[in-house]
Amino acid sequence: MPRDVVARAARAVRREEFLPEAQRGHAREDRPLPIGHAQTASQPTLVAEMTRELELRRESRVLEVGTGSGYQTAILAELAAEVFTIERIPELALAARVRLRRLGYGNIHYRVGDGAAGWPEAAPFEAIIVTAAPTTIPPALVTQLAAGGRMVIPVGVNPDDQTLVKVTKDCDGRVTERPLFGVRFVPLVTK
Ligand code: SAH
Repeated sequence: MPRDVVARAARAVRREEFLPEAQRGHAREDRPLPIGHAQTASQPTLVAEMTRELELRRESRVLEVGTGSGYQTAILAELAAEVFTIERIPELALAARVRLRRLGYGNIHYRVGDGAAGWPEAAPFEAIIVTAAPTTIPPALVTQLAAGGRMVIPVGVNPDDQTLVKVTKDCDGRVTERPLFGVRFVPLVTK
């Protein structure tokens, strides 16, 4: 998907809508912002960059792990056919769902739970995006990636040393991992 298509989708989504009252004045700043429950909404340039790496098509079905505010979810919903999003904190999941419904998105499926297990009933996914960092790539997510699909996922043992990794699966099912750049995400919390 070309750069300008992702940029247009990002412009169509107002970040203010996804932030707590006290943070709205900062919506235009390109930095992560707190959304409560010790979680953060990623900075817009990183959201756009990760979205580009997914190489979405209009027909794509996308899995997102870490709904958070729902800001990234909205951008995915602008670009793809269907978005399946998983969040482990019920209050954040509910707030995002109410918000995204109010904004009119009808192509998003919501789940509360551990995203490291993926969403087997809806798999395979042409694209998977993870917005919290595990120490190693959850095998279930690789399994649920479609042949020809892409996953972007931050990986790292500590918050100061994480790498955004792009995982691709070719048509024969061969999996390749490529580091993209350094990032800072909240940890992916698994049971
Ligand atoms: N894309 C979101 C980022 C939110 S921060 C945004 O821009 O708003 C990462 C989110 O991942 C947090 O909401 C956190 O609760 C969630 N998370 C952490 N571990 C998770 C897990 N195992 N499964 C699902 N969600 C998880």
